[in-house]
Formats: sequence, C-alpha cells, structure tokens
Amino acid sequence: MSHSQNKKGLEADIHYPLIDTHTHFDDFVFDVDRVELATSAYRSGVRHLLLIGYYAKYFDRMLQTQQQLADQADSGTAVPKVYLASGLHPAYISEHTEADLEQLAQFLQTHPNVAVGEIGLDTFTDELKTEQSVEKQKRFFEAQLDLAVQHQLPVLLHIRKAHAECLALLKKHKYNANKLGGIAHSFSGGEQEAKAFVKLGFKLGVTGQITNTNAKKLRRAIRAAVETYGLQCLVLETDCPDMTPICCQQGEELTRNVPGNLGFVLQGLAELLEVDEQSLARQLWQNSCEALRVGWPYPG
Ligand SMILES: [Zn+2]
Repeated sequence: MSHSQNKKGLEADIHYPLIDTHTHFDDFVFDVDRVELATSAYRSGVRHLLLIGYYAKYFDRMLQTQQQLADQADSGTAVPKVYLASGLHPAYISEHTEADLEQLAQFLQTHPNVAVGEIGLDTFTDELKTEQSVEKQKRFFEAQLDLAVQHQLPVLLHIRKAHAECLALLKKHKYNANKLGGIAHSFSGGEQEAKAFVKLGFKLGVTGQITNTNAKKLRRAIRAAVETYGLQCLVLETDCPDMTPICCQQGEELTRNVPGNLGFVLQGLAELLEVDEQSLARQLWQNSCEALRVGWPYPG
C-alpha cells in the first residue's frame, strides 16, 4: 500500500473494513473536531469503534460521544458506529471509590455495553507498585470480573508489568474468556505471556506500537503467538489519543492519535507477519467479533 500526504497528514489509499476495539474518542482533545475525525475514520475503513471507560466520572461523556455520532449517522453522515465498554482503569486506582464501583454496576444495568473495560493490573510506576495499591487494584479487578460474569460480557484488560499476577488472578476467578471472550488490550508482555493469554481465551490487542521496529520484544511476542495460535489471536486498536503509529508522528512532540490511523496499524502488522492486508483485515474483523461476542457482518 502506498501513501499520499495531504494537509491532514498521512492517509492510506486503499481501505479495508476495520473495527477499532479500543479508543478514548470521548476524550476532550477530540471535542474540537470529533465529527470531522469520525468521517475521516469511516473513509479510511473504520466501521465500528469502542469507547473504553477508565473513570466513572466520564461514563456520561462516553454516552454523549456515542449520541453525538449517532446523530451524525441519523442525519446521513457516514461515521463509524460507536459502542460502549465501561470500567475502572487500574492506573487510576488511588482515585476510584466504592461509589464508583456502584456507579459502574448501575451503568452496566442501564446502558448497553459490549464489554467491561478497561480493567486489570498496572505496576508500572512506584506509586502503583505499593502493596496498598496492588491490593486495591486486585480488589477492584475482581469486583469488575464479577460484574462481567453477572452480565455475561467480555472484559478488556489493561496490564502493565503485572502479566503473571493478572494471569494468576484470572485463573482462580470464575471469569472464563473461552466462554465470554475478551481482549488483552495494547498487549505489552513477552512471548510466553502472549501465548498464556491466548490460551486462556483472550485476543491480543495490537496498537500503533507494532509499527515501531525498535519494539522488538512486542514484535517477537506477537509473531510467536501467531506461530502457535494462528492469526485468530489478534485484534486491532488505536488506543487514541495515545499510541500514535510511527508514520503519523510529527517531530519530537507527542502527536494525537486518531481512529483514522487504524489502517496504519493494519499495515504495520501485515508487514511484520508477511501476510496481505486484505485477508488480514477480514480475519481481524472476525476476530474482533469473536472477542466481543458480537455478529457484525463484514461490509461487502
Ligand atoms: Zn485505554
């Protein structure tokens, strides 16, 4: 696939239907041009996208974003269809309260959600590594796994520097990804961990990081999982506004990632795995549906 530069930056020439399984498109950084970005994402192939929860206080913002884009669709503008996955992110554990868990339980009752997320364990910083933090993270993680089981929904996992602990907790918990589906979002573990999550029934979420040839551990892990389990174990995500693909970064400054960049993630993954983009896109669509236990038809 070749690329042309336009005034909005890079845009792919050939577009295959894609599902963005992880976005924060409700983030305020998109308030100024969300509709424009949504139409451009649609043009680049993105047909469905998920808004992922992290703070209870933003659940309403997710709903408003979903409504904003549904209104556009109703008025005839082609934009991706938006779905919700609500949850309490482990990296913000110090701020979550019991009332937030209560609010999440309520939100899952009252609004259609396709998954519970993002939830998990994160021991990336010193603050998150403390015993107190880890204990609370585990408690909130388990409570949210219970909610997923109660609603028979897949979970979207956020795991940083805690893959073994997360695996152990999942194994002893009655959440069963082989039955309910689920995604290890923005997967960052090693080869063995990648295979272990896939074996448990999870798909691995691949971001723009895959386009970074210096991300050797990640690229090895994804390749190893595919060698063992086939292309069925992967899904795509932008994780926008984070994880901007290398080709879309401008200079030293952090460039805001957008859903319309998902095609570059597809391209980077196809190059890494030496498969053609078209068949990979079709496989990834199917994988996303399987991970989320939905039956979205492949656009013909
Ligand atoms: Zn996220």
